[in-house]
Amino acid sequence: MKNTENGQCHCGKITYKFNRQKIISAHHCHCSDCQKITGSGKATIIYIPKKHIEINGDVKFYQVKGSSGLGVRRGFCENCGSGIYSYLKELPHILFVKAGTLEDSSWLTIDSNFFTDSAKSWSMPDQSLKSFNKNPGIASTIKTLIKSF
Ligand SMILES: [Zn+2]
Ligand SMILES: [Zn+2]
Repeated sequence: MKNTENGQCHCGKITYKFNRQKIISAHHCHCSDCQKITGSGKATIIYIPKKHIEINGDVKFYQVKGSSGLGVRRGFCENCGSGIYSYLKELPHILFVKAGTLEDSSWLTIDSNFFTDSAKSWSMPDQSLKSFNKNPGIASTIKTLIKSF
C-alpha cells in the first residue's frame, strides 16, 4: 500500500503499520514523565486514530496519572523495553505513537511543543514551532479527535 509506514520496537517483537495520510498531528513532549520514560529530553509523538493503525505483538502497559488528572497508559515491549505508544484511558480512540520507532520518519513534520516549562537546558524546545508551556488541554485533544472522523 502506498504511504504505508512501518515501525517496530528495538527487538522486533512488536510491529505496527499505518498510512501516513491518516495521522492527525505530531508533537515534541518535554514533560517530566516523557523525560523519565525515554531517558532523554523529550518524546516525539504522533497522534493517530486507533482504527488507522495495525499493531502486532504483545504490548505491555504501565499506567500513571498524567498532569491533567487523566490516566496515561504507556505501552512498551516487555522484551526490549522500547516504548511504542501511549494513550489516555479516557480517550482510547487516539494513540500517541513514539516517532523514533518508525523505520522511516523523514516525512514527518512536527506541529508543536508540549510542556516547554519542564524542558531541559540541554534539550531546548524548537523555537520555530508553536509551544504550550503545559499540555494543550483535553479540549483541544477532543477537537482534534472530532476532526479526525
Ligand atoms: Zn521489543
Ligand atoms: Zn510527555
